[in-house]
Amino acid sequence: MKFFDRRQLVKAIIGLSGLAITGLASWLSFNREGNMSQKKLKFVQTPQEQHWVGDGFFVHTLFHPVGDMYKHTTPFILMDYAPPKNFPQTSAKRGVGEHPHRGFETVTFAFKGEIEHRDSSGGGGVIGTGDLQWMTAAAGVVHDEFHSRDFAKIGGDFEMVQLWVNLPAKDKMTKPKYQGRKDKEFPRVPLDGGEVKVYAGEFKDEKGPCETFTPINMYNVNTSDVCNVPLKFEEGSNTLILVMEGTVNYEGKSFGEKSLLIFEREGEEIPLEVEANSRLLVLNGEPIDEPIYAHGPFVMNTKQEIIEAIEDFQAGKMGRL
Ligand code: MN
Repeated sequence: MKFFDRRQLVKAIIGLSGLAITGLASWLSFNREGNMSQKKLKFVQTPQEQHWVGDGFFVHTLFHPVGDMYKHTTPFILMDYAPPKNFPQTSAKRGVGEHPHRGFETVTFAFKGEIEHRDSSGGGGVIGTGDLQWMTAAAGVVHDEFHSRDFAKIGGDFEMVQLWVNLPAKDKMTKPKYQGRKDKEFPRVPLDGGEVKVYAGEFKDEKGPCETFTPINMYNVNTSDVCNVPLKFEEGSNTLILVMEGTVNYEGKSFGEKSLLIFEREGEEIPLEVEANSRLLVLNGEPIDEPIYAHGPFVMNTKQEIIEAIEDFQAGKMGRL
């Protein structure tokens, strides 16, 4: 076996370090430009119309499962945002009476005021400012959703979000489940000028307590000063950010209240600049790339499964309150 002679060896080392230098230079310029691994904005929705859900929730529907848009929001199917609204005191029950769901989860965030809920699987309770309820309808429940009695009696500002989270086909017919989570259960990650409250998934070293069927990150960002929020998610995941109050700066543009930012799946990093006194809801998740067939309160994979859902509901198989 012939060994390299000295000259060949030196040439080889120079060649290798040359490669390393070229590699380092391109890595540095890539990081300086900062757009190779950065998620680009795909759409920004700014809703105009508000509509009533029952007589308690005056909402903007920011997205729902139609056509191509679903590709960019999955695993999230629908978002209703009820921006702050003052309700006078009443002895009446305000909200939505008994109705069914099958095939997904409803996640309700109370930002101002209180919401009372009960469902046919035995789940229920009252959630107030900062709390969250995560109802897994799965095979089917019947539930109702109202302003809490105590809140209705006194009246005041009310603000909430309801999000629908899809389930993969294999989990759509599993047992219903209920998670009621109090504000104090959520860990906070302090940042210079604000904090990130973690509902589900992870931010830096903190994990949110909500259990999910597919990988999901869900945060509430609150700022008191200008704050840089270094979001980082899996390549190929979907990300949505709702601006509830204040302003977010991204890609040299500013986005104000009620803007919903929807990002490309490609890339990992979202270096947000958030203005003082802003509140954001950040949603990120692994896409569920399966066909969906949605009809009213049911979200399944095929038309046949929707027909079965309607028949099962009518036959009382989703229970009663
Ligand atoms: Mn409902």
